Amino acid sequence: MTVFAPRETDPRETRAPLTPVTVQRLVELGLEVQVEAGIGAKCDHPDSEYEAAGSKVTTSRDAALAEADFVFRVGKPAIEEISKLKSGSLHASFLDPFNDPEILQAMAAAGVTAVSLEMIPRSTLAQKMDALSSQANIAGYTAVTYAADRLNKILPMMMTPAGTVSPAKFFIIGIGVAGLQAIATAKRLGARVTAFDVRPEALEQAESLGAKALRIDLGGDTGGTDQGYAKELTPEQLEKQRQAQGKVCIDSDVVITTAKVFGRKSPILVKQDVVDRMKPGSLIIDLAAEAGGNVEGTVLDEEVVAKGGACIVGLSNFEGRAPTHSSQVFSANLGNFLEHFWDKEENCLKFDLEDEILKGCVLTHSGEIVHERFKDA
Ligand code: NAD
Repeated sequence: MTVFAPRETDPRETRAPLTPVTVQRLVELGLEVQVEAGIGAKCDHPDSEYEAAGSKVTTSRDAALAEADFVFRVGKPAIEEISKLKSGSLHASFLDPFNDPEILQAMAAAGVTAVSLEMIPRSTLAQKMDALSSQANIAGYTAVTYAADRLNKILPMMMTPAGTVSPAKFFIIGIGVAGLQAIATAKRLGARVTAFDVRPEALEQAESLGAKALRIDLGGDTGGTDQGYAKELTPEQLEKQRQAQGKVCIDSDVVITTAKVFGRKSPILVKQDVVDRMKPGSLIIDLAAEAGGNVEGTVLDEEVVAKGGACIVGLSNFEGRAPTHSSQVFSANLGNFLEHFWDKEENCLKFDLEDEILKGCVLTHSGEIVHERFKDA
């Protein structure tokens, strides 16, 4: 059985789907591994490291796609590459299935088993394969280090003979994986942190990291789904939230928004009137930008300076700002996935679509869209 990991084609992508450490693990499982030349160029892994780990390095991308039993990559493939995959092969990557139904049709038509990494269940058993979490963790960290670098202020309080410098004020909206890491990082750097989430248990987690939890009575049920995701708020609840948060945003040096509602466009939580009243030099980092954005005025992959001098940062792929480590954990997630389902005696994948994890993340199989959520799309 062969694994192929192509080089990412999006010029903004810095990560590699496989690192040499994972290559070695796959080789030890008895798999033949090929990677495309230059795969690790942006994350500090030259081709020679892949060769040393037991991989072939190829420049014939199309031939490798056509031969491979497993294709691993970070981002979704170009639609025209899907027909080049071998029928019966398994392709695993982020697939953005809620926004890109065409990909699923193409994967089914090509007879490919498509695994969507965003659909891996948030269960204890699947934690080791959870690429959404491994990447969000790093994005939360790099959002704070980016802010620390861009801010015209320092983060910690400093008492000097020339006077006292106040700590920078951070406001984190959305306390999931990225939000928690943002809180922890900003606290370590000495900032004063306030945080809000609609899920009450998330507020307690923020407090345990030393943040001040903003408590807003939104009325109604604001708990999570059985997967731990937030439920969508009503328009009235969203308005209440925006009203209660506005003053904290205006008072903050950095607002980091991470609030997502799984499978839906992100809610607008910070409106333009609030952005315009934020201090000159303050920053709003919209980590939900790729999912539609939490801030009115966010432009994906751009920075926009508002009337009052605050800057809305809509850059994507914050995890890609630390590509060595984001590739390390992403690649480990894929290695863990394959290893979990690998039958060492038969030297093949144990593939049972009734398995809880596979039922969650396999979207196409044997020429059909098999996932409940996308069957009728
Ligand atoms: P996410 O990226 O979907 O959303 C980020 C955060 O935004 C969430 O905490 C969500 O509650 C919050 N949010 C949504 N609407 C909001 C609003 N209007 N205002 C403020 N906040 C809002 O979340 P995630 O980081 O992927 O985590 C989702 C859940 O999954 C969490 O409960 C997390 O603890 C859980 N989780 C479990 C596991 C596991 O058990 N293996 C692994 C990872 C995450």
